Amino acid sequence: MTDRWAIVVHGGAGRLRRTDPERVRAGVRKAMETGKSILVQGGHALDACEAAVQVLEDLPLFNAGTGSVLTLDGRCEMDASIMRGSTLEMGAVAAVRDLRHPISLARAVMEQSDHVLLSGEGAMQFARMLGFASYDPVTEERRRQWEKLREKLRQGAYPRWAKKLKQLLKEHPELFHGTVGCVALDRHGEIVAGTSTGGIFLKLFGRIGDTPIPGAGTYATPVGGASATGIGEGIMRVLLAYRVVEAMDRGATAQEAAHQAVRTLRDLVGLEAGVIAVDRQGRVGFEHFSESMPVAYATYEHPEGEARLASETRLLPEEADPSLM
Ligand code: ASP
Repeated sequence: MTDRWAIVVHGGAGRLRRTDPERVRAGVRKAMETGKSILVQGGHALDACEAAVQVLEDLPLFNAGTGSVLTLDGRCEMDASIMRGSTLEMGAVAAVRDLRHPISLARAVMEQSDHVLLSGEGAMQFARMLGFASYDPVTEERRRQWEKLREKLRQGAYPRWAKKLKQLLKEHPELFHGTVGCVALDRHGEIVAGTSTGGIFLKLFGRIGDTPIPGAGTYATPVGGASATGIGEGIMRVLLAYRVVEAMDRGATAQEAAHQAVRTLRDLVGLEAGVIAVDRQGRVGFEHFSESMPVAYATYEHPEGEARLASETRLLPEEADPSLM
C-alpha cells in the first residue's frame, strides 16, 4: 500500500441561477470528505466512489437520486454507472425509477451480473431481486418546476423546443444540470469512476444519456479515470470520458487531459459539458464548457482539499464559435 490517494467529485456542469452557492459548495465538500475518509484509511476506491456519489444522490440540490429532474410525462428516470480501472469492469443502469441510490444498483450490475448495462423494467426487476427497496426520488420542488415548464409549453412559450434541444437549453440552461460524479484513486493504486443523474428536464420517456454509456459519461483504466456531466447528446458523440483517459494514457496530467478533451468537445459539438479526472500519480483535473461546475477534491499532497463552483480555466460558452451555440 502506498501513501498516494486522490478524490474529486462534481455536482454537474451548468449554471447556478436560483441556487444557493454555499449549499452547493457544502454539498460537494461533504461528498468528497466521505470518500476521502475511506481512502485515507486504506479503503477501496470503489467504496469511496460509491459512498461519495450516494451522498450527492441524497442531496435534493443535485440532479441525481433524490431531486432528479422529470421526463416530459412527469416521471423520474435515472441513469448511473461505475467503472473499475484495474479490471475494466463496469456496471451501469439506465432509465431506472423508484430507487434511492442508482449508483449502488450500477455497482450490483458490475459485481453480481455478467452484464455491463441494464435498463428500464429489467433493471428494476434486478434491483428488487437483490432487495433494493422501493423509494420515491421525486421532490416537491422538482414537481413544481416540471408543472411550470409544462404550463409554459402548453402556452406555446417554447415553440421550438421539440425541434431543437439546443434552443430549450439556451432559454433554460439551469434546468438541465446537476448530475453528480466521482473519481477516486486508492492507496492500492486502483482508480474508480462513477456518475449518477436524473438526465435532462423534459427529456422524452426512454431517453438515455451519456451517464451509463462506457467512455461517454464514465471511464477508468489503470492510468486514470473520468466522470462527465452536461448535455449527454454532445458527450456521447465525442466519448468525453474516454478521451480524457486516453490523453492521460499518452502522458497528459489529469488537468491537461480534462482541458484538452473539453476543448475538443466545445469545438466539435458546442454543447455544454464538463469532466473531472484523476491520474495514477494522484493528480486531479477538472474542466468545463459551462458557467459553473461545482467540484470538491483532495489528494495525498493537499489533504485538506478544496471545494469550488468553477474551474479557473473553464472554457466559457462565450469563448466558443457563436455558430455552435
Ligand atoms: N449528462 C447528463 C445527461 O445528459 C446530464 C447532466 O450531466 O446534467 O443525462
